[in-house]
Amino acid sequence: MSRFVRIDRAFRGAIRQRVNGAVVFDEPMAAHTWLRVGGAADVYVAPNSPDELTALVKWLVAEDVSYFIIGDGSNLLVKDKGIRGVVIDMSAGIKGISVLSEGPVSTVVQAMAGESLHRLCRFAIDKGLAGLNFAVGIPGSVGGAIMMNAGTADGAVEQVLTQTTVLFADGRMEFLKNSSLAFGYREFKIPGAHDPLHPPVVIEGSFQLQSSSREDLAAEAKALLKSRSERQPKGGASAGCIFKNPQNAEPAGALIEQSGMKGVKLGDALVSEKHANFILNRGNAKAGDILQLMEKVQSAVYKKFGVELKPEVRIVGE
Ligand SMILES: Cc1cc2nc3c(=O)[nH]c(=O)nc-3n(C[C@H](O)[C@H](O)[C@H](O)COP(=O)(O)OP(=O)(O)OC[C@H]3O[C@@H](n4cnc5c(N)ncnc54)[C@H](O)[C@@H]3O)c2cc1C
Repeated sequence: MSRFVRIDRAFRGAIRQRVNGAVVFDEPMAAHTWLRVGGAADVYVAPNSPDELTALVKWLVAEDVSYFIIGDGSNLLVKDKGIRGVVIDMSAGIKGISVLSEGPVSTVVQAMAGESLHRLCRFAIDKGLAGLNFAVGIPGSVGGAIMMNAGTADGAVEQVLTQTTVLFADGRMEFLKNSSLAFGYREFKIPGAHDPLHPPVVIEGSFQLQSSSREDLAAEAKALLKSRSERQPKGGASAGCIFKNPQNAEPAGALIEQSGMKGVKLGDALVSEKHANFILNRGNAKAGDILQLMEKVQSAVYKKFGVELKPEVRIVGE
């Protein structure tokens, strides 16, 4: 899938000229993912602004060099041979939160894709705006949350996102609004056919929130964080739930537990004792260990329940 990039002096010079933010060659992706695994990306860049990002994307498309977008890397499993082409990190320079419109009942808040979801949730609480508390405690960036339709039993991005700006590989910047936003379970379906080597990039999102009491929101957020920390493992790197909850069956964690896979290890990869749908890297796991352990879990669950678990974590690279 990935396209070869000749990282000669000319390419190094040309990409450095286009990006004021970080440009690193052969950058280990383990340093940019919550699972702490993954081989090197040929090139890692962190543009400083949307303009820089747009110019970079247009140039990479014209040069026929593949790119892959990352937010905070909290839902990524990068394979051990890494990523060919250019990894574009949104979380360093594409930031900012602002109020777009304010009314007595509802307010629209805009957040740039690289902004932390946590900061957006705090911003909303401080302003006494309800609607985003479901996301309190979900790691990652706003762009990643939009792409993953991140959520919990209490809500998901699709319920509050009213508009998003997307940059397409042909250089078009489109404002996608309410009716054209299509979501699935942990998925945002951007309309149109896409070249997987040059995927669309979410630049920002606008969220419609309701006026509420700041104190009540803060208390609710505190309770949600407490309940999250009671349910989820502490220590050890993870990507949160590794499998999607299947339709018409018990949650993935319950199926994994009842299949006897809780606590099963492979190298330094471990099926969490606390929440069986979490796979932890306890220090030196490789992506290969985690992938093998995922396969073991899938086959145990299939054998016992005839249910095929599908990864929620995005598996990328070689
Ligand atoms: C401890 C823990 C708990 C978690 N709990 C939850 C939870 O309760 N609910 C939940 O839904 N998730 C949860 N997650 C998973 C993860 O935090 C979410 O999926 C999060 O929204 C991913 O955001 P990110 O910025 O880290 O995205 P990344 O992991 O960097 O990327 C995820 C996907 O989005 C794409 N992407 C990212 N940014 C952009 C962009 N700007 N434009 C285009 N594509 C982009 C990437 O290419 C990739 O395909 C948890 C993870 C951890 C580690």
